[in-house]
Amino acid sequence: MKALVAVKRVVDYNVKVRVKADGSDVDIGNVKMSMNPFDEIAVEEAVRLKEAGKVSEIVAVSLGGKKCEDTLRTALAMGADRAIHVETEAALEPLAVAKLLKAVADKEQPQILLLGKQAIDDDANQTAQMLAALMNAPQGTFVGKLEIDGSEAVVTREIDGGMETVALKLPAVISADLRLNEPRYVKLPQIMQAKKKPLEKSTPEELGVNTAPRMQAVSYAEPKARKAGEKVGSVAELVEKLKAAKVI
Ligand code: AMP
Repeated sequence: MKALVAVKRVVDYNVKVRVKADGSDVDIGNVKMSMNPFDEIAVEEAVRLKEAGKVSEIVAVSLGGKKCEDTLRTALAMGADRAIHVETEAALEPLAVAKLLKAVADKEQPQILLLGKQAIDDDANQTAQMLAALMNAPQGTFVGKLEIDGSEAVVTREIDGGMETVALKLPAVISADLRLNEPRYVKLPQIMQAKKKPLEKSTPEELGVNTAPRMQAVSYAEPKARKAGEKVGSVAELVEKLKAAKVI
């Protein structure tokens, strides 16, 4: 069984992103970039499925500029077998990403498509759902547990107020949530080995996908700065302050 895993290169989660002075965009020049954390979880899950003998090949896919190669090399070091880089400098909206992933899936015919539940840069949380719709395939989103049982994936989803377990006929699209696993650290030998693994190049044009944007960001603004908090010495003092502030 083949697994396709989508990995996005995003601003590292430790970076505090600033808005450009004219509010036209966020400034990500010279900031650290990494694999989207939920995609790391998706890769880890695919590798665990391979280690368990449920998956025979893992193909990592990334869409974007030249530097996506670094993200793909990380996925290869984690245990993916080969990589596909759909190279474009165009800004990609989730629908364009979903169409490109569908085009790759049409060629590769994976049984399981693993994505992150959301990319932490745009926080869209749309791609997996759109991809499933375009493929007319079952979807399991916000997955905290995944088991492959014959021709089905049994997934436990994190929903408001609890968990839901559903069985999906394969091929299916699955999006990884935080509790699915803890991704492994890659070690130097794996990073070296990853350099020798195949990395194939493609473009949206070759895949016949029009990536023209359908939305326009009008402006960006930083959230209002909050006033600093205050430490109180006792419960009595807290009550006094809350009364003074007319909270109680
Ligand atoms: P989003 O819908 O933008 O929040 O992204 C959800 C998931 O779609 C991500 O966690 C990735 O698995 C996948 N994805 C989004 N954009 C890309 C991209 N440019 N390249 C590869 N995968 C992507």
